[in-house]
Amino acid sequence: MSQCRDFPSLKLISHPLVQHKLTLIRDRATPPILFRQLVKETAMLLGYEVTRSLPLTSQPIETPMAAMTAPLLAQPVTIVSILRAGLAMAEGLRELIPSAREGHIGLYRDPETKQPQEYFRKLPREPGCVILVDPMLATGGSAARAAAILRQQAEPEALRLVTLVAAPEGMEVFARAHPDIPVYSAALDDHLDDNAYIIPGLGDAGDRIFGTL
Ligand code: URA
Repeated sequence: MSQCRDFPSLKLISHPLVQHKLTLIRDRATPPILFRQLVKETAMLLGYEVTRSLPLTSQPIETPMAAMTAPLLAQPVTIVSILRAGLAMAEGLRELIPSAREGHIGLYRDPETKQPQEYFRKLPREPGCVILVDPMLATGGSAARAAAILRQQAEPEALRLVTLVAAPEGMEVFARAHPDIPVYSAALDDHLDDNAYIIPGLGDAGDRIFGTL
């Protein structure tokens, strides 16, 4: 994991397996069934780094051999998907943390104002540590809005954002709104095009996950 000089809250995950899978994800020849599977696997690997800072408590237990005090996660974990592309990443994190609760936030871009508008929100009342997932941090508008919603229920130190690919423009927007929320990403790409797609990116993540191209 490396820190990014331009964005102190960004943690780039350079693990070889993450980078290998991301290349397959980016490849336009990768069909939806494999794309989904790779997104899930990559989210699991990113999840390993993202969960590294989860607080632990300890509890007395008895093994078959002896009594001991052993570590356990101190708080519940909630995985929050930004609909719809976040769902495929949530699948991978769910395998890593089967006890996690799940929340969903639906946002669409108002065609006139270009601002994210909320159309769906279902979150656990006490989310504990929250892992917000969206594969593409493009303009940063949706992620920043989702994080603002989550801040109503959780302290910033309990929040983290996980993406596959971030654009500098999106990172700028997110870090300005939430400098205290860490962002974990497999890549920081070059720029956004005129239609707010990440270049080189991987295309439309939702369409590739759900085969709606
Ligand atoms: N959303 C996507 O799915 N892809 C992009 O490149 C940008 C936003």
